[in-house]
Amino acid sequence: MSRPGYASLDVLLKEVRACRVCAPHLPLGPRPIVRVGADARILIVGQAPGTRVHETGIPWNDASGDRLRQWLGVDAATFVDTSQFAIIPMGFCYPGRGKSGDNPPRPECAPLWLDRLLAELPSIALTLLVGQYAQRHFLGARRKPTLTETVRAWKDYAPDFIPLPHPSPRNQPWFRQHPWFEDEVLPMLRERVGRLLRHGPAQPG
Ligand code: SF4
Repeated sequence: MSRPGYASLDVLLKEVRACRVCAPHLPLGPRPIVRVGADARILIVGQAPGTRVHETGIPWNDASGDRLRQWLGVDAATFVDTSQFAIIPMGFCYPGRGKSGDNPPRPECAPLWLDRLLAELPSIALTLLVGQYAQRHFLGARRKPTLTETVRAWKDYAPDFIPLPHPSPRNQPWFRQHPWFEDEVLPMLRERVGRLLRHGPAQPG
C-alpha cells in the first residue's frame, strides 16, 4: 500500500501529465516533463524542456544535462534516481523557439503547479536554481542586479538555495569569462550534493 505522501503525489502527477492549459501556445503540444519522488533531498529547478527532452521525455537529456551532471559530480543513474533528485522546470512543456533561442517557460505553469508539487516534497534540503527564471521565482527581491552577481553571491542564499547559470553550451563564453565559478562555486556545489546523496540501490525514475 502507498504511504499517504506517495499516493497524493501520484494523484498530483497524473493531473500534471494531463495538463493542457497552454496547449494553443505550444508548437509541439503539451508534454510536461517533471521527475519527482516524495523522498528526494535535492531539487533542481530549471527553465523549460528543449526539443530533445520533449522527444525523449527525459529531463536534462541533452548537452546541458551532461554539463549539469558534471557540475554536480553525479552519474546519469544517480541523476534520475527520484529518491535523490526532484527535477522540476519553471515551465513543464517545450515552449517553442524565438529569435534568440528557446522561448521563456510558459508563465501559466509555475503558478498552477509549482507550490502544489513542492508541498509534496517534504525532504528537500537543497534547491538548485538553474538560470534566471528559477532565481527570479525563488529569490525574488533577494536577487542581485545580474545573474552573474547572483551566482557569485551564493553565500547569501545558503543553505537552502544555490543559484547557477544555465549549463547550456551557448554559455561557454560565460564559463570562460568567470573562472571563479569553476574554482569556487563548483567545489562547494559538489560537496553539498555529495553530503545529501543517499548511498544505496538507486530508485527508478
Ligand atoms: S507548460 Fe505547464 S501549464 Fe502549460 S500545458 Fe504544460 S504543464 Fe500545463
